[in-house]
Amino acid sequence: MSTNQMVIAQVSSIESASQGSGFVVDMALINGAYFVAAILFILSLAGLSKQETAENGNWYGIVGMAIALIATIANPAVDQIQMLLIAMVIGGAIGTRLALKVEMTQMPELVAMLHSFVGLAAVAVGYNSFLEHGEMSGMILNIHLVEVFLGVFIGAVTFTGSVVAFGKLRGILSSSPLMLPHRHKMNLIAGLVSFGLMIYFVKQEGDMNALIIMSAIALIFGWHLVASIGGADMPVVVSMLNSYSGWAAAAAGFMLGNDLLIVTGALVGSSGAILSYIMCRAMNRSFISVIAGGFGTEVTISGDHDYGEHTEIQAEDVADMLNNARSVIITPGYGMAVAQAQYPVYDMTKKLRDKGIEVRFGIHPVAGRLPGHMNVLLAEAKVPYDIVLEMDEINDDFSKTDVVLVIGANDTVNPAAQEDPTSPIAGMPVLEVWNAKHVIAFKRSMNPGYAGVQNPLFFKENTSMLFGDAKASVDDIVKNL
Ligand code: NDP
Repeated sequence: MSTNQMVIAQVSSIESASQGSGFVVDMALINGAYFVAAILFILSLAGLSKQETAENGNWYGIVGMAIALIATIANPAVDQIQMLLIAMVIGGAIGTRLALKVEMTQMPELVAMLHSFVGLAAVAVGYNSFLEHGEMSGMILNIHLVEVFLGVFIGAVTFTGSVVAFGKLRGILSSSPLMLPHRHKMNLIAGLVSFGLMIYFVKQEGDMNALIIMSAIALIFGWHLVASIGGADMPVVVSMLNSYSGWAAAAAGFMLGNDLLIVTGALVGSSGAILSYIMCRAMNRSFISVIAGGFGTEVTISGDHDYGEHTEIQAEDVADMLNNARSVIITPGYGMAVAQAQYPVYDMTKKLRDKGIEVRFGIHPVAGRLPGHMNVLLAEAKVPYDIVLEMDEINDDFSKTDVVLVIGANDTVNPAAQEDPTSPIAGMPVLEVWNAKHVIAFKRSMNPGYAGVQNPLFFKENTSMLFGDAKASVDDIVKNL
């Protein structure tokens, strides 16, 4: 074959591979692009694991995703580019609007909602590839049917589970765990029936009724699984759903024969699982019990316990107390984020430090509504990193501290976690603020925190309540300092 003939043969083979898309693209090029995108995603995860490298991590992720999208559009198998572009424009517009509008405090809700979309997409891909799987037989058909079944199952569980997590985080649904009688047996039966249906589905070489019945069971199962998890375990649930959504995407990747989706799904699935495990360890929760829908956490929520009287204090008196202190620790929580009090908190910190008073911050791993929430807010307000300490680094120092300012924190400073084995947050490590000489709790009322339990800290002799919006209260203190 002459060189000319070889070139013509090559071009025509590429063209025939790319029929419909209008692009002349070599599949090897697309696979190469997928490979580069996968590497960038791994670098992105590595970058995001540290504050200093997080920005680079974000960029790796953005570039990786851009490459992945371009390669997908250029893929010869894609024959409906217009539809794809329309969907991308609509999705991109909605995503941009949501991301610009969302408050920091609503970020976990947004993440939960995005997970529900991934779950729904996996269900849609599952049904589609079941209806349009072309000619298959024997082992290949069986493998395909198992992929479809598992993809739809994981997708449906992720979908309703994420919707419930969204509802709980938004406050539309109650954050206390749903305690149906025999709930673990019901979960077990749902799992076993779904497994039985999968065997039937494969034996029948694909039975639509079995798929529909399993989908209904999986939707209820996902709903119940997350509904029975208490509010205090929500951070773990969100990262666990992150993991499920990754596995759902990987399952969709198998069905579509898309390597990048398999790799990306596995990365999301495993990193979400690792994060859930780390958070469970930090909160002294059993990983298995949380992912099994609160298994083994038989809690009693009693609202009628008499904790005695609480003491109130005014901003001027807090300012006096601070002026006379040598060491101060600030433990911020969700209320500081809501009030956007981090800026006056910075001013107060600066004033106190200028007077030679030692000021440090104690950060609980799940303070606020997402891991790292407080660190981000404090960094935003330019509080120096070196005075912001993790819970384990500061917990022993409270007994040597004159004043602790608990600014909008509640569950993360609740001594019931250590003292009351029947409390829903029993066993969760907390900031031991009550060991300090004086504790000032900034909040608007005596309402409980996110886990829905009262906090005995507020009734201790060395604790005083400074009622009002945290920002206004800190502003008042700054004026009086
Ligand atoms: P909590 O959510 O337990 O309590 C926050 C407190 O802030 C409330 O008691 C509220 O009291 C007060 N507050 C609200 N708004 C204001 C305001 N404007 N001014 C002053 N006070 C205000 O906070 P924590 O940070 O201590 O605990 C976090 C909780 O969230 C934990 O249960 C954790 O498990 C959960 N969670 C954490 C996630 C994470 O990843 N970090 C994700 C999801 C949930 P009042 O209404 O009386 O003012």
